[in-house]
Amino acid sequence: MPDAPTIFERIIAREIPADIVYEDDAVVAFRDIAPQAPVHLLVVPRTAAYPDVAALADADPALLAHIIAVAKRLAAEHADGDFRLIFNSGEGAGQTVFHVHAHVLAGGLTEGTLG
Ligand code: C5P
Repeated sequence: MPDAPTIFERIIAREIPADIVYEDDAVVAFRDIAPQAPVHLLVVPRTAAYPDVAALADADPALLAHIIAVAKRLAAEHADGDFRLIFNSGEGAGQTVFHVHAHVLAGGLTEGTLG
């Protein structure tokens, strides 16, 4: 039996609401519901084939590059162009939704920290 859809599949299918700021054939981007920075967006591929960035990097590096290109574009549109890109990969790294996604943090980050 296939796994139940993750919350991101349900957002992409418009079954549950999200503040979508960008979409194309390959990805959807929306505002994180619990922002950790003035601008906190998630860039999520439409495909649910990859649970985390490790799986995506192995299988489809072009899609990974596209996610990064979209992050760059969104940081320029929503902030001053500077951004921090985070992929939590695995439960031990704090990942909670197992549908690969990039966190794009921008718009007034604390200097010189990783968190
Ligand atoms: O990397 P991780 O899997 O922990 O990130 C999941 C993110 O999805 C969290 O930052 C959480 O706030 C966000 N989220 C969301 N909308 C939901 C459910 C989770 O933006 N409906």
